[in-house]
Amino acid sequence: MEKDDIKLLITDFVDLLLPELTPYEASLYLYLVRNSILRNGSQKIRIGKRTMAQGYGAGSRGAKTNYAHMTKIVSCLEEKGCISIGDTTRDGTEYIVKFPRDIPTVIEKLATVQLAEKEDDYFTDPAKRKVIFERDKWICQYCGEEVTKDNATLDHYVPQSKGGKHTKENLRTCCLVCNGIKSGKIYEEAAPYILKNIQERRKRKNGKHKK
Ligand SMILES: [Zn+2]
Repeated sequence: MEKDDIKLLITDFVDLLLPELTPYEASLYLYLVRNSILRNGSQKIRIGKRTMAQGYGAGSRGAKTNYAHMTKIVSCLEEKGCISIGDTTRDGTEYIVKFPRDIPTVIEKLATVQLAEKEDDYFTDPAKRKVIFERDKWICQYCGEEVTKDNATLDHYVPQSKGGKHTKENLRTCCLVCNGIKSGKIYEEAAPYILKNIQERRKRKNGKHKK
């Protein structure tokens, strides 16, 4: 399993699945993930309930979960779509452990998150871009020059490469020149270059006036 897949699995689990599970269910799910997907990359695991009861949650207290209780947790996990239960042989029951992203409640939540992100997107939709330009009164937020429909751009104050989003708060009206300088940098990195450019532009302007 790739490092990124593991990262995604854990992030999804903590952010989206954990709130939907009881502590017992969460522990058992993690126990199954640990002994299937994390062990050998396979979502399938064949294991007896007694082994499970002994293995999982056998922490410092060493308390053993009883068989009936284990049966109940397993069926709750199945009901929530976290696992599916296969056949039982002498070696135990086969479980298919689902990735958080394949579990219904997580799918629903992800859809909601994506919808919210779309609503917060002031970068992609031209009508919403205009909201930012108007908020900033069509003035480049870095050099103070006026911009027009033809040369106005939107800058991500926190760059996208550093996790900056398309939100109102993170977008600034920007002229093409400053945008070219700032692109991909955080403000503190870009500031000296922007200042230098403003000075150069001023010099050029003054030079023209003198002629
Ligand atoms: Zn500018």
